[in-house]
Amino acid sequence: MIPRHRILLLHTGGTIGMVPTARGLKPELGVVEHAVDRLMAERGNDLDIEIVRLEPLIDSANATPADWNRLAAEIVARADSCDAILITHGTDTLAFTSSALTMALEGLHKPVILTGSMIPLGGDNSDGWANLRDALAATQTAEPGVWIQFAGKLLRGPRARKIHSSAPDAFSAMLSDRPPRREGEVLRQHRFGSARIAVVPVAPGCDMRVVGFAMDHSDGVVLRCYGSGTVPDDLLLEQGLARAADRGIPVVAVSETLAGGTSLGHYAAGAVLLDHGVIDGRDMTLEAAYAKLALALASVTGRAALTNFVETPLCGEFGAPFPVP
Ligand code: ASP
Repeated sequence: MIPRHRILLLHTGGTIGMVPTARGLKPELGVVEHAVDRLMAERGNDLDIEIVRLEPLIDSANATPADWNRLAAEIVARADSCDAILITHGTDTLAFTSSALTMALEGLHKPVILTGSMIPLGGDNSDGWANLRDALAATQTAEPGVWIQFAGKLLRGPRARKIHSSAPDAFSAMLSDRPPRREGEVLRQHRFGSARIAVVPVAPGCDMRVVGFAMDHSDGVVLRCYGSGTVPDDLLLEQGLARAADRGIPVVAVSETLAGGTSLGHYAAGAVLLDHGVIDGRDMTLEAAYAKLALALASVTGRAALTNFVETPLCGEFGAPFPVP
């Protein structure tokens, strides 16, 4: 007899398992569990599913790097006794979690499939049923690595972003020439620490005192620039970047555009970033850059080592050098 495919389902919360309350949608115990029972009956109970709830179930708006550590620890502790891992999660920070897990799990040799939904399983026309059904199927077919199964698409964990706040087809991911996994002989967890990272966007005429505050008080900064890495010509910004360099804190530039990324030095309007040792995030998503900076701050010390960590490809978080089908 062929042994049944064993799935570890880690339920964290999110709309998929929420119910309406007077203050809006909130996670409720049992919703996802009942849906899984129903889908399993539909499939003829062909899978062994162990459900572990990470309580308290949360709206993923409340997720922190401590939650990424907890998820990664569950996966490392239980990976040997399952064939694949399925994670049900809120969509708001799903792409942060998928990026973080890809980076944290060295030597991952099983598929980790994250999913969620835009409409609760109990709501009219919920996309949760199709997403959960597809995610169960993906646990049997996906390559080892971290993936998001959403709206019929299997997306690379460290390349994905949420692109719509209400439509079912809410995620997209860019390509990469590498699988979404961190190479390694044995499965081991890299932990996130408690570094304070600021995410600072620029805008025409924006108040650059905010940038200065981040450069003076944070442990690291993700600076969301325009296009291929330009920023306004502003003395407060320049002084802030100089102080960040003096303090030895890393600043990573990413682009507000959906694809293409930064290429520091292309325009004179971004030269100030290179002058002060800003790290070129290239085409990492903001989510991937944030998670990678968090992991860098927990793993290495010194501005040169931090820069090297963030710039070196780790787990398919950068784009493909050539278009791939
Ligand atoms: N606010 C919800 C969450 O991220 C949104 C969702 O799951 O679709 O938990």
